[in-house]
Amino acid sequence: MSSRRLQQIIPSVATSDGAGVSLRRSLGHSPDARVDPFLMLDEFSSDDPDDYIAGFPSHPHRGFETVTYMLDGHMLHEDHLGNRGDLLPGGAQWMTAGRGIIHSEMPQQESGRMRGFQLWINLPAAEKMKPASYCDIRPDEIPTVALPGGGDVRVIAGRVEVEGATVDGPVQGITTKPLYMDVRLPAGSSFSQPVATGHSAFVYAYEGSLAIGDGDDARPLPAQSAGVLGGDGDVTVRAADGPARFLLLAARPLREPVVQYGPFVMNTREEIEQAVADYRDNRLA
Ligand code: MN
Repeated sequence: MSSRRLQQIIPSVATSDGAGVSLRRSLGHSPDARVDPFLMLDEFSSDDPDDYIAGFPSHPHRGFETVTYMLDGHMLHEDHLGNRGDLLPGGAQWMTAGRGIIHSEMPQQESGRMRGFQLWINLPAAEKMKPASYCDIRPDEIPTVALPGGGDVRVIAGRVEVEGATVDGPVQGITTKPLYMDVRLPAGSSFSQPVATGHSAFVYAYEGSLAIGDGDDARPLPAQSAGVLGGDGDVTVRAADGPARFLLLAARPLREPVVQYGPFVMNTREEIEQAVADYRDNRLA
């Protein structure tokens, strides 16, 4: 089996969003820093409540899906459909904005560490106006598989083969067939995962640096950076300089035009203008 190569590095940049939450944005920090169908990846990680306490008060989305995965801390999601989701360490939420959702995500702690990720995945044109939906994923619903060389893999979405066993994540049935894994490796060990031919893939290193690719062809990926993979075949990742943790994401690309205006992601400018008007007139959701 051939191996995918590290083709492009998208370093994260420090920014803030919501009512003033400090975060690092890799994918999505500019329009060309996307990996179709992935639009954005934010990492939030702080022990200082000033960095997160303001949270994300009520705001809208249309045209894509948001996936929040918590490592540490406690957040409460509420939306106009009446969903209340308590996000706990190791848990996730999968929200399909479709034609429109209005929600808030507010920290439920005043001290301690808040750490996790928010990923935006685009919807195909045919599904951008479908009804919104929301799914809470408890920590114990995410399978954790121990690796023989130490470390482990958590599978949030998709079906993977780990050490000869098939493992299904709790999220299935999404048109773009996303694969979302959280991998922890001890120093010097490596991990390989097949990714479907033609699917986009990237790795986000969030603790430690990585070497991506096989043997002599491996290339370094610094911490807090997204590494976009080219070619087809397996993704091979090694913890290069100490223990490492990373996300591995893959999905089928849509190859459709993307027009984004803040929290609305559509295919044309006219559809964006419609979304803005619908939100203004209370017709978004
Ligand atoms: Mn949101």
